[in-house]
Amino acid sequence: MTDVTKRGDRSPVPADWTYAPAPESTDIVSLQERYGLYVGGEWLDTKEHFATISPRDETPLAEVSQASEADVGKAVAAAREAFGPWSKLGGSERAKYLFRIARILAERSREFAVLESLNGGKPIKESRDVDLPLAAAHFFYYAGWADKLEYAYPNRSPKPLGVAGQIIPWNFPLLMLAWKIAPALAAGNTVVLKPAETTPLTALLFCDVVRQAELPPGVVNIVTGDGSTGAALVESAVDKIAFTGSTDVGKAIQRQLAGTGKKLTLELGGKAANIVFDDCALDQAVEGIVNGIYFNQGHVCCAGSRLFVQESIYEPVVEKLKKRMTTLRVGDPLDKNTDIGAINSRMQLDKIEELVAAGKEEGAEIYQPPCRLPEKGYWFAPTVFTNVAQSYRIAQEEIFGPVLSVLTFRTPDEAVEKANNTPYGLSAGVWTEKGSRILWMAQRLRAGVVWANTFNRFDPTSPFGGYKESGFGREGGLHGMEPYLDFS
Ligand code: NDP
Repeated sequence: MTDVTKRGDRSPVPADWTYAPAPESTDIVSLQERYGLYVGGEWLDTKEHFATISPRDETPLAEVSQASEADVGKAVAAAREAFGPWSKLGGSERAKYLFRIARILAERSREFAVLESLNGGKPIKESRDVDLPLAAAHFFYYAGWADKLEYAYPNRSPKPLGVAGQIIPWNFPLLMLAWKIAPALAAGNTVVLKPAETTPLTALLFCDVVRQAELPPGVVNIVTGDGSTGAALVESAVDKIAFTGSTDVGKAIQRQLAGTGKKLTLELGGKAANIVFDDCALDQAVEGIVNGIYFNQGHVCCAGSRLFVQESIYEPVVEKLKKRMTTLRVGDPLDKNTDIGAINSRMQLDKIEELVAAGKEEGAEIYQPPCRLPEKGYWFAPTVFTNVAQSYRIAQEEIFGPVLSVLTFRTPDEAVEKANNTPYGLSAGVWTEKGSRILWMAQRLRAGVVWANTFNRFDPTSPFGGYKESGFGREGGLHGMEPYLDFS
């Protein structure tokens, strides 16, 4: 990168702030040299393996199995065999297992948080304070529904579907696993889950939680591998596919499943508008903007990556934002003071760099606060682009990195028009002190989630999902259990 000075591998700090290093110890995590697939409650070895690394320094962490089509078939068969007894178990019995899993996740949260940051690159304070509590909360929440399905859907005779194939991405590995597995199990299904190629380790550690909770063998099966393993799972004899990932792969899966009778939910990309009106609490809004785009290095499908500022407050907002950006600490994900960790993979870093270069080329003005990026690993400084036109790639395409594009508007109508001018429709944010304006905007924004005076807030009771190319189906809340049930 040309705009950022790389000086050594020390944690970067703004010139006038000094922080002592506060690294979280990795001693709590014990990794195996090689992991198999978790099928029918046993570890199954495969012919091929690949290394999973830590993006903070590119060191290999473990060898992971590459599941073939035949391996996926075995996992689906194990899930099918387990389905009968599991679905016939009383709801309150299923709930006990889910409560157990929630409790074990909470008890082992430090171990999981360290492993999540090690394998994925996200700051430990986020794994510790967001990913882990939310993952446990999802199991806890859905445990509560397991014995109340008839009350949740009165007069609709809900029945489980069978075996669910679940494919998840690398940005929230354990949390996405919880979003997928908890509602499926509560509804009486069994699952085969494929974690992302770059972040399989917390899913593999979760198998130990499953054993500890004494979940019957075959109820949860984990198959690791690359995209071909995901494709094999889509093709396999499952009853439903739940996918979170890129819009391109989502479209391919939808084409593949058309006419097969398999149920499908897709949670895909986004290009959220974060809309700031001139009557908002400015400093709060700036915190919300920062959280909206720099949380988890911007590897967030609902990230507030397009900032729309009302013209009358454009200058103070941009000035405050740039000043706040100088206090963001980029560096070791395992340091408790780190705000922005490592980019998940070399491939993702290349994609971010390509889109940032396109932004400059097209004429946008770039700002990156002075910060020292470590020599090893994958890093990208927090970035803001001003003078952005709506047609620029950085305003249209999902960057999935710590890169914000700032645009302006004059009236609420114009804000809505511009915010909706994208193929996506996952989330949006509105910052104003006027309640009626929040409601007016929320009715018009084509986004599955609209946050008001906050951003990136998640709760297991609240449905989440998209419109347009952001996918269909909801996760979270009662809505999130519906796709795992048959009402016929
Ligand atoms: P993908 O959509 O490729 O990956 C998501 C999951 O699907 C992974 O487990 C992946 O496996 C698997 N997969 C890949 N190809 C297939 C296939 N043909 N059939 C079934 N499953 C498949 O996303 P990427 O990781 O490649 O990220 C690319 C872009 O997608 C990002 O830059 C970002 O813009 C967007 N993205 C959006 C996410 C969201 O939450 N909406 C999450 C992640 C990415 P494997 O990891 O092994 O390739």
